[in-house]
Amino acid sequence: MEYEAVIGLEIHAQLLTSSKAFCSCSTKFGAQPNMNTCPICQGMPGTLPVFNKRALEYTIKMALACNCSINGISRFARKNYYYPDLPKNYQISQYELPVSEHGWVIIETEQGPRKIGITRIHMEEDAGKLVHDERNPVSYVDYNRTGVPLIEIVSEPDMRTPEEASSYLKTLHSILVYLRICDGNMEEGSFRCDANVSVRPVGTVEFGTKTELKNMNSFKNVQKGLHYEINRHTEIVREGGRIIQETRLFDPTSGATVSMRSKEQAHDYRYFPDPDLLPLRVDEEWITEIKNGLPELPAEKKERFIKDFGIPPYDAGVLTASRELAEYFEEVVNYFNNPKLVSNWIMTEFMRVLKADESSVKDSLVKPAQLAELLRMIEDGKISGKIAKTVFDEMWATGFSPDKIVLEKGLLQVSDTSELESIISKILDDNPAEVKKYLDGKTQVVGFFVGQVMKASKGKANPGLVNKILSEQLSKLSA
Ligand SMILES: [Zn+2]
Repeated sequence: MEYEAVIGLEIHAQLLTSSKAFCSCSTKFGAQPNMNTCPICQGMPGTLPVFNKRALEYTIKMALACNCSINGISRFARKNYYYPDLPKNYQISQYELPVSEHGWVIIETEQGPRKIGITRIHMEEDAGKLVHDERNPVSYVDYNRTGVPLIEIVSEPDMRTPEEASSYLKTLHSILVYLRICDGNMEEGSFRCDANVSVRPVGTVEFGTKTELKNMNSFKNVQKGLHYEINRHTEIVREGGRIIQETRLFDPTSGATVSMRSKEQAHDYRYFPDPDLLPLRVDEEWITEIKNGLPELPAEKKERFIKDFGIPPYDAGVLTASRELAEYFEEVVNYFNNPKLVSNWIMTEFMRVLKADESSVKDSLVKPAQLAELLRMIEDGKISGKIAKTVFDEMWATGFSPDKIVLEKGLLQVSDTSELESIISKILDDNPAEVKKYLDGKTQVVGFFVGQVMKASKGKANPGLVNKILSEQLSKLSA
């Protein structure tokens, strides 16, 4: 019997507000432990939360971008559980009345686009962090993260393969970053994902028993964890065994998942409306205002790039994966209207140095106007594509204009016909054996001559002109 997987994802994204969800403490990552705390986020008795409106605005942005409906009234609820990183012994979350529901996004798969449903997007606060001392038998607690606003995005169980799950994650990640409401940093935990997975015989409707995979901190680990878990489920079910509903942890070192605890049910948390916080009312006017302020999202941008710039879908996908990169591309094209050449340069040279330096687009010393200038020099035949790469590296390191670098380093392309003619005739004179080969019909030896000319000109000879003069001189010899 054939089995298929059923996957649903829960994403937690930290919102980029400057203060926490229910107090005025800073949300800045990397501060000294417990520096960003106050009696409210430390859970002291007698304190009262004050809700951060910006967190609601950001949540509505995401909800609209994911085609969700916004509930006019929503409520905060207490999710009760005990853990040392949760000083109040409850987390403020939303339960029966989330701020938004019933959305969808389109993801790219190898079989084409697929629509994935979104059950709900709700707000909650983050918990603190336990730090375990490797050498001593003690653990510390850091409450800096306590109370940082989060949204939880719950998908429908619409995904069937780990690849689809990964594509869905990337889609949501890129929307969040485009909206500038989350920095998307998976290593620092500002974008995290849990997966619910089960298997069932192909063609059946009923779901199998699911397990939950916790906190996989990279796109790759999500795929690996799901692959492992799906295989584990399938093997058990095939042999007539039963899946235990539980929470499991993916171990990136072994590539396996291990049991963590039996899965809690919602009723274990004793959710109830938070009496310290009034229901939230969102009026239509504000929703419209937020909607009108939404930026162009990755999928729309990609379509527009294909249509307006005539670049291949692959290029458009790479360029629009990041909003900064897409904006950079558009600016270069503004100065130099050859979108395919611009796209090639950004996808190869520009992205290569970005990656090597772990640098960001906005920190790049090569400004769009300068890259455009460089590309124009190639088009005008002033420098070869190969030399341009050297010039580009220099621009990247110094921030100088290509003009200045080319002049100072004497890199202008040699397009002087008489100069090239004399170089070429000298090379033909110096290599009689190779010339004889050519005359004997071994025309591939032309490549050798071109190489010699490039070497003699230190890579500056205009390749088109070299080929032309070379074939003229060789055909004279064979006449
Ligand atoms: Zn605080």
